[in-house]
This record gives sequence, structure tokens and C-alpha cells, in this order.
Amino acid sequence: MTQKNTNQEIKNFVSKIRIACNSDNYLPLHLHEPCFENTNASKYVEQCINSGWVSSSGNWVLKLEEEICKLTSCKHAIAVTNATSGIRLSLHLLGVSRGDEVLIPSMTFVATANAVSHLGAIPHFIDIEEETLGIDPDKLLVYLKTSTSNVNGQLINKFTNRSIKALMPMHCFGMPAKVDKLQSICEEFNIPMIEDAAESLGSFRGGKHTGTFGKLGIFSFNGNKIITTGGGGVIITDNKEIAENAKHLSTTAKVQHPWEFIHDQVAWNDRMPNINAALGVAQLEKIQEILKFKNKLYMSYIKHLQSIKFMDLVKNPYNCKSNNWLITFKINIEDDSKARLVRDEILTISHKAKIFLRPIWRPLHTLPMYSNSPKSDLTNTNKLTYRLINLPSSPQLVC
Ligand SMILES: *Cc1c(COP(=O)(O)O)cnc(C)c1O
Repeated sequence: MTQKNTNQEIKNFVSKIRIACNSDNYLPLHLHEPCFENTNASKYVEQCINSGWVSSSGNWVLKLEEEICKLTSCKHAIAVTNATSGIRLSLHLLGVSRGDEVLIPSMTFVATANAVSHLGAIPHFIDIEEETLGIDPDKLLVYLKTSTSNVNGQLINKFTNRSIKALMPMHCFGMPAKVDKLQSICEEFNIPMIEDAAESLGSFRGGKHTGTFGKLGIFSFNGNKIITTGGGGVIITDNKEIAENAKHLSTTAKVQHPWEFIHDQVAWNDRMPNINAALGVAQLEKIQEILKFKNKLYMSYIKHLQSIKFMDLVKNPYNCKSNNWLITFKINIEDDSKARLVRDEILTISHKAKIFLRPIWRPLHTLPMYSNSPKSDLTNTNKLTYRLINLPSSPQLVC
């Protein structure tokens, strides 16, 4: 392709994005906007305000937790202030502490690693695979066999001599990672799995909801996620004891008493405020409709973008139902530097046309605070870094 041809192709591509979204030429197309139309959002938030119970206890929180249990078929849900604190609390509940390592993908939002660091633990980066953009189970298995040893039932990193305490896969853009396989690997190596399911509410692998394969799973309700509480998150688990501890430690470890302030541990203030939960309940009433719109948008992108030569739409993984949180395409140019040039050109041209495409995150092992963290071979991560771009994915684009 000559430069001129490439530019022409990219312009053609950008105009097809608008067609796929059924959008007016002048409207800005953002990555993901919350959807409050035709919901009970204002009504429930107003009821919450009028009740006076706007803070960390109240019925909306309980209602939200109940609805999450129904949607995911899990036994317990604990609503928290955001997914970052939910992940940090969950890791703490599994016994992760200062000097331990936690296996996570390098290709994830920075919060996955930050939650590990907040406990004084060290993220240990693992490669992803192209199909799901989640941790590659085959590569992980080989890596653990060659790089770790088992000392008195503890999994030890042979190179750092630190204890590896957990594996935390992430469901990238809503696409379920191969958590069934990853869970068996965890059993073989005797470590718990916890799922960063921040992006995957409404996504299933083989009919089982993401977040329910590991000991704990965490969803985010940040403003850009599939549904929102303004800011918030929820931890799910089938383990009663873990659930009780999660509730206790998210509410300053206060022992129930009509008036005394008795706290039995150093703990956090992680509980979701009732006013956020009121908004969340209204959002959960809408989630099936949102999922339907998202699927329609995904189909529309498949239809309109299939003729574009330099890219492939990233398809939902086999035997999975994805929530299509962020619909993604991959630049299929072999040469690394050429792919990166085309990527930058796509971003420049689309932003000029007010279509705010976003590249995938810089992998975490390239960020200054994580550049010395332990890591496996990251060939796929590095290869995909400059090839993946998210399309405008708001559900209201097709409704
Ligand atoms: C959004 C997100 C988080 C953090 O969620 P917050 O609720 O904003 O703290 C964590 N991990 C991943 C993969 C995310 O996308």
C-alpha cells in the first residue's frame, strides 16, 4: 500500500464506523457512555435521598447485592466503593500480603496491578493469547513448570524466591478468558484464582457467568463500564466465610453492637454508599436490554467493516457469550513498525472526524512503576500492543 492509498482506506474505514453506528456526521462518537434513558434512575435516587439513608447502610445496597447474585448465580455479593478496592480486599482475604507475588496479565487496566501493590505485594506479569485477549493457559502451564517450585505446599518463584499467592486473570473488554482451564492449572499448582471481572458483567463462558470460576470475582460499576453506580463495584463468592469477612473488613471491622464502637481488626471503609446502590438497582433493571443493544452494535460492526482489508474485528470467543463491553478490531499488518504507523494514522484521522477511538492500554510491564516486576515471556502482549483499537461501543448507538 502506498501512503496515499492507506489514507484513503482509513478514511473509508472511518466513514463506515459512522454507518455501522447509524450516526449523524456531526455527532461526536465516544467510547462508552452510560445509559439512563427509560430507567428508574432518578426515581430511585430521589427515594433514597428522601429516606435519609444515603450512606453506607441501607436497603438499596442489599437489593443490588441480591440482583447481582441472581444475574451471576453466585451465593454472596458484597457491594464496594469501586472495583480497585474490591480487588485489593479480595486479595487480602486470600492471604496476599507484603512481599508476595500475584500472577496477572500485563495487558490489563492499571488498576489490576495497583490493587496488588496496595497490599505491598508484587504483580508478576503473564502473557495473553490472541483469541480471548486473556491469559494464555498453555503458556502459563509451561511457565509455571519451568519457573516455580513447590516448597512445603507453597508455590515459589525460583528466580525471586518469593511466594506466588494467587492467579488473577482479567476478562478483556468483556470477552471471557479461558478461566475453566486456568482454574485447573491453579488446582494443580495449589494457588487460588480470583477474577478481575471488572469489564465482564453479563459475560458467560459455557453458560457459566464470569467471576464465578475463581474463589472470588469482582465487577466494576465505574461510569464507563456496562452499567454504572457513578463509582462502585461488587465482589462475588460462593464461600460464606469469605463473604462474611469481606463485609466485616469493608465496614471498618465494626463488631455489631447497639452503641459501642468495637473494632476487632485494622480494616477499610470500602462499603458502597446506598445512594450509589439506588442508581445501580435502576441500571440492573436495564441490563438485559443493554446487552441486547450491545450485541446488535457488534453485529452491525461485523456487517459494515468486513470489507476493510487492513483490520479484523475481534470476534467473541468460542462457546462464550460476551457482553461486548468494548468492541475491538485488530490491525492485521505483519510488520510491527508499519502496523504502528497505520494505528497512529487511524487514531489521528478518526479523532479529526470526532470518532474517539482508543488504543488498548500500554502493557503494564512498560510503565515506570512496574518495569522491574517479574514477568514471563510476553511475545503476544508485545505483538498486540500497537494493533488493537476499541470502537465506539455505547449501547444507545443502536437504540
Ligand atoms: C475498570 C477496571 C478496574 C477498576 O475499576 P474501578 O471500579 O474503576 O476501580 C479494574 N480492572 C479492570 C480490568 C478495569 O477495566
